[in-house]
Amino acid sequence: MTHQNPPSIIALDGPAASGKSTLGQTLANALGYLFFDTGVLYRAITWIALQQHLNLQDETAVTKLAQDAQIDIRPPSQKDGRAYDVLLGERDVTWDIRDGQVDANVSVVAAYAGVRQALTDQQRRIGMRGKVVMVGRDIGTVVLQEADLKIYLDASAEERAKRRFDEILARGEPAQYKEILHNVIERDRIDSTRAVAPLRPAQDAVIIDSDKMNASQVYELVMGLCK
Ligand code: C5P
Repeated sequence: MTHQNPPSIIALDGPAASGKSTLGQTLANALGYLFFDTGVLYRAITWIALQQHLNLQDETAVTKLAQDAQIDIRPPSQKDGRAYDVLLGERDVTWDIRDGQVDANVSVVAAYAGVRQALTDQQRRIGMRGKVVMVGRDIGTVVLQEADLKIYLDASAEERAKRRFDEILARGEPAQYKEILHNVIERDRIDSTRAVAPLRPAQDAVIIDSDKMNASQVYELVMGLCK
């Protein structure tokens, strides 16, 4: 893979809770790039659907929601551990979209072709401006196939669940390790077996297994790839 120095479009994919967001954020800060966590969009649609008591099996209704939703991502307005604000109209849903109900249902919503079409178009428009670190499941394979650097960040389900468990406890919220592990495995299963844009590494992605690495070791490795 040839790219200018440093790469302008960086695609960062991988399974649930593999540390993509932390890495993406740190990387974007260091390079002065935009950090775009695309999972936020799928989560926001799922949250609205749950709020409206929509039948999540109703693909047409959920797709319409995705086409109409006005999701805004802005710089953080509060110092409560957030990296950005997620707004739906006037409402701040930054933490709402992280709750267990959304975790449990987001992969069903994200498997719908119409939902993906609506959200992929937005991601691509922003990503093609460059100077961006875009994080998701299909960034290197579908959204930004022309990315200059593609990273696929992996780790065992147990390690990922443990990290997510610690994160939730650190926020002062209750958490059950077993439930988180089950959710992580189930989300990966749906995300990697769906017909449209399944989770998998791009052919030209650098695959990093972070099981025995901490966040700063992963960061150093990826920074090395940027140089
Ligand atoms: O990354 P995060 O865990 O927030 O993503 C939530 C869900 O959104 C994933 O489990 C997946 O179903 C969906 N997603 C996706 N494509 C992306 C980003 C997220 O399908 N690019």
